[in-house]
Amino acid sequence: MPELPEVETVRRSLEPRLFESAIASSHASKLALRGRPIDRRAVAALVGARFIAARRIGKYLLLDTSARRTLLVHLGMTGRLLLRDGDAAVEPHTHLRLGFESSLELRYVDARRFGAVRVYATDTLHATEELSILGPDPLSAAFTAEGFIDGLSRTKRDLKAALLDQALVTGLGNIYVAEALWLARLSPRRRAHRVPRTDALALHGAIVSVLEKGVANRGTTFSDYVDADGNFGANQHTLAVYGRDGQPCRACGTRIRRFVQAGRSTFYCPLCQRGR
Ligand SMILES: [Zn+2]
Repeated sequence: MPELPEVETVRRSLEPRLFESAIASSHASKLALRGRPIDRRAVAALVGARFIAARRIGKYLLLDTSARRTLLVHLGMTGRLLLRDGDAAVEPHTHLRLGFESSLELRYVDARRFGAVRVYATDTLHATEELSILGPDPLSAAFTAEGFIDGLSRTKRDLKAALLDQALVTGLGNIYVAEALWLARLSPRRRAHRVPRTDALALHGAIVSVLEKGVANRGTTFSDYVDADGNFGANQHTLAVYGRDGQPCRACGTRIRRFVQAGRSTFYCPLCQRGR
């Protein structure tokens, strides 16, 4: 499932071709994405406009147009945002095609349809149901150590749940939470409000570090994730704990363990990440 580094890699791979010519055509499927079909009229109204910026907040891509409307995209579980030649065969499960005056097409493909594609007025994006509930993006200046430490102190949930909740910090999912907790040497079961300040500070740094590494490696691909050109990421080869149960910890050699926490797999090193 794409997390911040995968979405950031998609964002970067859209530039600069996304901006090169005006939108000339639109086709949207009638199938619901995350419970709602794409607003075909809103998408059709983008014809004639150009994309002028590709931004990201957490796992959301925000593609601003010259019509002061923004295409908001969340890749969900299996979403792919692709830049293809207009003549290229249309992949199964393609839900949106925006053709440009050049031969390019922007396509949204999503087999499981847990993603979202919405059109909003750029000026009021921050107030939308998707973005208004998000905490700071961890690769932005808004993600301060003090704010993060304060946020942790206010929740009694375990660290894993606190980090997955997009309100404390946005953009993390199962993979990068596991990696950040390993790097900070903290058990995923620790209660957030009991984590000492020095450990919370280490966790803040670890979150930034694992995400930056993920971006540098162009994302983690286990099954579906690709960038806008269809390329896989390489970060899966360097992960410390995620998906490595039974293999030796890269720091101490102890076997990595897996257990199910709130219905999802958690991977950790029982020696490096002892609960205190
Ligand atoms: Zn270890």
